[in-house]
Amino acid sequence: MPENTSRTELSALGEFGLIERIASRVHLQHASSIKGIGDDAAVIDPQGLHQVVTTDMLVEGVHFDLGYVPLKHLGYKSVVVNLSDVFAMNATPKRITVSLALSNRFPVEAIDELYEGILLACKNYGVDLVGGDTCSSPSGLVISVTAIGEAKQEDIVYRGGARDNDLLVVSGDLGGAYMGLQVLEREKAVFTETGAQPDLVGHDYILERQLKPEARKDIIGLLPSLGVKPTSMIDISDGLASEAIHLARSSGLGVRIYDEKLPIDPSTYRTARDFNLDPSTCALNGGEDYELLFTIAQNDFEKIKGNPSLTVVGHMTDKASGYSLVDKQGGVHELRAQGWDAFLRKH
Ligand code: ADP
Ligand code: MG
Repeated sequence: MPENTSRTELSALGEFGLIERIASRVHLQHASSIKGIGDDAAVIDPQGLHQVVTTDMLVEGVHFDLGYVPLKHLGYKSVVVNLSDVFAMNATPKRITVSLALSNRFPVEAIDELYEGILLACKNYGVDLVGGDTCSSPSGLVISVTAIGEAKQEDIVYRGGARDNDLLVVSGDLGGAYMGLQVLEREKAVFTETGAQPDLVGHDYILERQLKPEARKDIIGLLPSLGVKPTSMIDISDGLASEAIHLARSSGLGVRIYDEKLPIDPSTYRTARDFNLDPSTCALNGGEDYELLFTIAQNDFEKIKGNPSLTVVGHMTDKASGYSLVDKQGGVHELRAQGWDAFLRKH
């Protein structure tokens, strides 16, 4: 929370004053957003397209720690994680609503900062903020964002469309957000114990992956330009292993992932080693990468081959083969969905 700036109590503004303050900063970009903030409900013209709707709730102390997460980043990330879900349907996000539970611990200036991040994400991704809700909370901050996207019916990609032998493809690289969190947690612990200022030097990439993730809008544009439509898709919020199993289960199949194929950035790799963690485990189970994981027909391999944003990490199998991980020596292990929370508890 900013300490050297002025502090205006939320009570001085009141709920309606706060909503007006937010509304005054919003500029609707889409003609299809017929009515935004200011009535009982927003009004949207679907223009003949299918609408996809998704919500995520972020709770202070559970999903974020304001000890090291700046409010502007929190606002940005709370929007981006929802947009990522819309992209994972192969749809285009067009609108969001943002609901807040706030305690009087937060001055108006803090809410301004939060909305700076929210509105920056709206601008960067071409999304209209069309409404929300504001209520009080006894202590913590809760943010719930709903994103509404649109797509032609025939373009929507579900989790359940994968077929046996389809290739499993991931965008970007994995494990970075998890290692960024480890660095932040370590520096917070050092600060609590010794009062030493955080040493975050050399960790730019993984800190950005944790604090300011981006949703892979570019991949949704790239695939049609390559002439590829995924057969199934999901975004990686809980870790590759968990999401791959989601695709397999929804599609009534098994899945096989190859350790040696996992895309891991050198800085993620190095930091994992420093923390005595196995980089592959971080890539498989570290969460919050917000990359896209999808399946394509074997015949489409030539179209994506060599693209620096895309890596084939495995393939789908028949259901009886189950979920497996092939290690660098060729040994086959059961692939388990440790997921984000379980992984955190384990370490
Ligand atoms: P109601 O009591 O009918 O739910 P509200 O007073 O909560 O109405 O909301 C009035 C208008 O302000 C609505 O358009 C609503 O979507 C919008 N709104 C309320 N809170 C927020 C917020 N935190 N961010 C954006 N819009 C908001
Ligand atoms: Mg309301």
